[in-house]
Amino acid sequence: MPMFQVTRTATSTSDAARQAALADPGFGRYYVDHMAVVDYVAGDGWQEPRIVPMTEWALHPAAAVMHYGQEIFEGLKAYRRDDDSIWLFRPERNAARFVTSAQRMGMAVLPEELFLASVTELVDMEREWVPTSENEQSLYIRPFMIASEPYLGVREANTYRYAVIATPAGPYYSEPMKLWITPNYTRAAPGGTGTAKCGGNYAASLIATQEAYANGCGQVLWTDGAEHKWIEECGTMNVMFVTADGELVTPALGSILAGVTRESILMLAADHGLTAVERPISVDELLDGLESGQITEVFACGTAAVVTPIVGFNSPQRGEQVVADGQPGPKTREIRQHLVDIQYGRAEDKHGWTVKV
Ligand SMILES: *Cc1c(COP(=O)(O)O)cnc(C)c1O
Repeated sequence: MPMFQVTRTATSTSDAARQAALADPGFGRYYVDHMAVVDYVAGDGWQEPRIVPMTEWALHPAAAVMHYGQEIFEGLKAYRRDDDSIWLFRPERNAARFVTSAQRMGMAVLPEELFLASVTELVDMEREWVPTSENEQSLYIRPFMIASEPYLGVREANTYRYAVIATPAGPYYSEPMKLWITPNYTRAAPGGTGTAKCGGNYAASLIATQEAYANGCGQVLWTDGAEHKWIEECGTMNVMFVTADGELVTPALGSILAGVTRESILMLAADHGLTAVERPISVDELLDGLESGQITEVFACGTAAVVTPIVGFNSPQRGEQVVADGQPGPKTREIRQHLVDIQYGRAEDKHGWTVKV
């Protein structure tokens, strides 16, 4: 039984226009014809779940999201396999994280089964928008929620709007990148919103990305808010280090975002002869490890790019340093391929991570 009431668009994209879009989708350039929407009203709960034509919204200019930033989101993908079946990857992890993000931001909590139904029913309806697996294309799904109540006082809103939109994503080349270790900015502090996937964290991070570009790097390596001593994550991805003694080390959870990709790679580490270790890792340990060769590979991970090799760092402490020989390392490439192969059904899914739509 579908949970969502469907109103079909009268002006769906023609086959020819969709095929033209899918020939070179880019990212965020085209959107599927429909979106899922569920409104929330305090005292009355979640209103009728509906799938409606994709359209602009009229929002009251006093809507709380536009003033105090109560907004959270998720990101996941639908993958088309060679037999044309369509699959999601661990969507229940996104549903669970959406709950914790909402709780941290004082927002209404969307039941996980409603999150899962919104994603599967929208993707099922828009199957034709899921690109082929060629060059790792996918349909990127963006569930999000805003505080919609018009009210200028500062308090939790009484009405929220949850919605899901989706955009076909073309080949994503995860270009090797250098990271700038910023001495000036932090993305999270103890007790702050680092563990919530909220728009505000992103707004606060943009200036540091500018600083990274100015220092010849593609992204920032975030460090802790108190001492700038402990490594947290990089840009909008989690970060991992391969050591000479066969460990895959990543910062422990605390103020970082608990990535689904991070969690999955930790579970695959043993298949690649690596011992997964979650512990605090300091900037000094990294910079010394690059010099001594103790750190042999570094990569960033997240849903969008899966795994991005990190081939160098720039820091006020030691200037430019390369990781090993400055090329993406073998474990980085193996792990990336393994995860992508599970997602597209080309490798055994031992953990039961993939879900058919
Ligand atoms: C979304 C996100 C990640 C990666 O999470 P995935 O679930 O792997 O996509 C990492 N860091 C930040 C800050 C994020 O917003």
